[in-house]
Amino acid sequence: MRDNNCIFCKIAKGEIPSATLYEDDLVKVILDISPATKGHALILPKEHYDNFYEISEDCAKHVIVTAKKMAEKMKEQLDLEGLNVLQNNGEIAGQTVFHYHMHLIPRYKEDQVNMDWNHGEVTEEYKEDLMQKLSL
Ligand code: 5GP
Ligand code: ZN
Repeated sequence: MRDNNCIFCKIAKGEIPSATLYEDDLVKVILDISPATKGHALILPKEHYDNFYEISEDCAKHVIVTAKKMAEKMKEQLDLEGLNVLQNNGEIAGQTVFHYHMHLIPRYKEDQVNMDWNHGEVTEEYKEDLMQKLSL
């Protein structure tokens, strides 16, 4: 599964150095090299998955449990006001490294992070269409 040209595979294997906050058999947590805010961290599986569609359920569970532990640590150690837990899939969604990873972005008063979007409206037709298509 490993992609030889993937920078996060190299980081996961320790072939490229990273500021590592946590590591186990399945994941590595590193500081983002170009942080949105102080403490911006990334959780990457050691196995290569391009994105959220590909990640195994076991790995997904482990990533979220790791995110929870890291979030608690961040809340305890940083003077944060909030935390964004997010991950991007596909170029249009902002993904730039095509090895699945989750961002933990501590938020501070007056930080410069902008995650705003225009809010649309919900019609009956919209609701019916999507409830039919997306109900699990
Ligand atoms: P994406 O845009 O794919 O959701 O996020 C990629 C993230 O990886 C970016 O926030 C970027 O700063 C970070 N990044 C890219 N290359 C490296 C690297 O070599 N080392 C580390 N620690 N972070 C990286
Ligand atoms: Zn990879």
